[in-house]
Amino acid sequence: MEMHFYKNEKIIKPNAMYDYLVVGSGLFGCVFAYEAAKRGKRCLVIDKREHAGGNVHCDEIEGINVHKYGAHIFHTNDREIWDYVNSFVEFNRYTNSPLANFEGQLYNLPFNMNTFYQLWKVKTPEEAKAKIQSQINQNKSGVPANLEEQAISLVGTDIYYKLIKGYTEKQWGRAAIDLPTFIIKRLPVRYTYDNNYFDDRYQGIPIGGYNKLTKGLLAGIEVKLGVDYFEDREPLNSLANQIVFTGNIDQYYNYKFGKLEYRSLRFEHTIYDQQNYQGNAVINYTEQHIPYTRTIEHKHFEFGKQDKTVVTKEFPEEWNPEKEAYYPVNDAKNTELYLKYKELSEQESNVIFGGRLAEYKYYDMHQIIGSALKKVKTHFSE
Ligand code: FAD
Ligand code: UDP
Repeated sequence: MEMHFYKNEKIIKPNAMYDYLVVGSGLFGCVFAYEAAKRGKRCLVIDKREHAGGNVHCDEIEGINVHKYGAHIFHTNDREIWDYVNSFVEFNRYTNSPLANFEGQLYNLPFNMNTFYQLWKVKTPEEAKAKIQSQINQNKSGVPANLEEQAISLVGTDIYYKLIKGYTEKQWGRAAIDLPTFIIKRLPVRYTYDNNYFDDRYQGIPIGGYNKLTKGLLAGIEVKLGVDYFEDREPLNSLANQIVFTGNIDQYYNYKFGKLEYRSLRFEHTIYDQQNYQGNAVINYTEQHIPYTRTIEHKHFEFGKQDKTVVTKEFPEEWNPEKEAYYPVNDAKNTELYLKYKELSEQESNVIFGGRLAEYKYYDMHQIIGSALKKVKTHFSE
């Protein structure tokens, strides 16, 4: 077949039905497709799941939006991204303030004056700082080299052993000394009585659920569900001039350098015939021997008043190719492997890689949207 070439070497298939085949209907795929369609491009979005939206998808159960793939709280410091999501759906005033349960005692998260009071009965920031400092001094080891050292240097040993070590090691299936420091730096440490889990200026849950956001982004765009790219790769490739790939990057290259490691999760949903089960949307269980990390009572994300309630237990699991990949494990070994795949991906002229799985990055929703919008701008040379 005769090929035509763009100036920038992009291969144009004269009979292609679409400008873009978007593999994956998560937030990255949705934003890219929306922006491309806005620029007059024809897109086909496919997803191997039976629904669109990726990990932000909600199932409606008993009139409650159940976060099917774990609690999702939108937060950002970026006004442009906040306005962008609010142009599709209005957000409520939900503020995430999880509790931690350790040996039957409840503690406020993130680590703040309430937590310090609950642990040590200290009432002032000075007292709290002195207490933490005394525990850091005993363990002084220079620049933190791993999650354990980082955590102790931030909050001392009491909090580390009660609220971090057990949770972290079951969540990641690895010793805290084998994990990167950035994972724990996600959490604020505050010397004020402020239980807001995030420091960001904007935060909330879409009123009516996340599906409103993804449906808004995909309005008017062709979406095919239950289609695994790898099961029909060549015919699917022939449908479009360019591909936007948001699946696992190692799978895209047939695992040629080896498999990247991910962390998987199992969710156990229970309907209770009562209005209010735990009084808070998120409770973390920080003891290592309790097999789940959190219990989520979904109605509280939207201040629901339904007669029943749905509660989800989140069990971390080892990943294998038959399971869903939820978290990239960004340790040294996997980072080195990922960089090899990344190098290959940079040589592709008509494939755009984006999102948590294709960029192998522990991205939050606002970061995914930011990264998709940035890629759109570069791609369309704006
Ligand atoms: P995904 O949502 O994973 O979408 C990728 C899509 O590609 C999936 O639908 C998948 O089925 C599809 N796909 C993959 N391979 C193929 C294939 N071969 N063929 C066809 N389709 C394919 N972020 C926050 O900001 N706040 C939170 O509170 C928060 N909580 C989270 C809790 C959990 C438990 C998890 C796992 C993540 C959380 N996140 C949170 C992160 C958030 O989910 C992600 O940033 C975002 O959803 C990623 O979007 P994505 O498009 O990159 O990936
Ligand atoms: N973490 C912890 N104890 C907690 C909550 C979090 O030790 O009660 C640690 C754990 O290592 C976790 C990391 O902090 O992986 C980041 O927490 P976050 O709530 O941001 O995780 P996510 O919601 O992305 O799973």
